[in-house]
Amino acid sequence: MFRVKSSRTISTTASMQSDNQSEIATAKFAGNAVIRVEDVHKYYELGETRVHALRGVSVEIQHGEFVAIMGASGSGKSTFMNMLGCLDRPGSGRYLLEGIDVSKHDKKALAQIRNQKIGFVFQGFNLLARTTALENTALPTLYTKIDNDERQKRAIEALALVGLADRMEHFPSQMSGGQQQRVAVARALVNHPSILLADEPTGNLDSRTSVEIMEVFQDLNDKGLTIVMVTHEHDIAQFAKRVIVFRDGKIRKDDGVLSRPRASEVLKTLPTLED
Ligand code: ADP
Ligand code: MG
Repeated sequence: MFRVKSSRTISTTASMQSDNQSEIATAKFAGNAVIRVEDVHKYYELGETRVHALRGVSVEIQHGEFVAIMGASGSGKSTFMNMLGCLDRPGSGRYLLEGIDVSKHDKKALAQIRNQKIGFVFQGFNLLARTTALENTALPTLYTKIDNDERQKRAIEALALVGLADRMEHFPSQMSGGQQQRVAVARALVNHPSILLADEPTGNLDSRTSVEIMEVFQDLNDKGLTIVMVTHEHDIAQFAKRVIVFRDGKIRKDDGVLSRPRASEVLKTLPTLED
């Protein structure tokens, strides 16, 4: 179901700790990246003060990558993700999403791109309580022109992808936290996005359930989905293929993960709490 693009090898491992960061970043720019960020700055005006939240960020993410974003609180992670997700625009610099420069798009154009190309997963699952897993998953299709049969079909497909084919008629209150988060992932996938963006997707989950969500992410990534995920947990970041660390609004490290654990294997070593 995903548009699996060319399986280019992923450009990782270039450490970006040196001062000529932009030079290294420029060298990494090549080919058809799904995300290309060029020297982006972002400011927030807060009364008299001006917060410089992103200070010259350049990065490229290829189709099929799975990137974890780390960094202390206030380092600019959410600001960066909001820009990637077309919820906000860069103050200066450029952001190209699948080659389209969206930096100057107005709110309406951004909303349209967002609905077509981006799937979001948040820490809180934000499911509608009196609505089944199937209906929750289908919600984003209401803003598209596809017909009802196709809506239903896509929602069923998305739930199957996250391993919830047998829970379609369940309400959120009848599901565990991990299952609810999987419904949120299915909902993010229902419009067949180019990238899945997740801000602290395991923030509210216990450790076993967190690894279960990483199993879902690794499965989806194996099928060709590009994923960018914020986490403050080092163990969770290791399930990604590449880890980018922010500090004070800049990228301080950008490295490939060397011995990446498979979540499905890790799960075999973790005790099950219930069942
Ligand atoms: P992180 O997600 O890494 O914790 P953020 O991107 O949320 O960091 O914040 C980066 C900086 O920008 C922080 O100093 C934060 O206080 C500031 N900031 C974030 N959002 C706003 C906002 N809407 N208005 C003013 N300042 C903001
Ligand atoms: Mg944040």
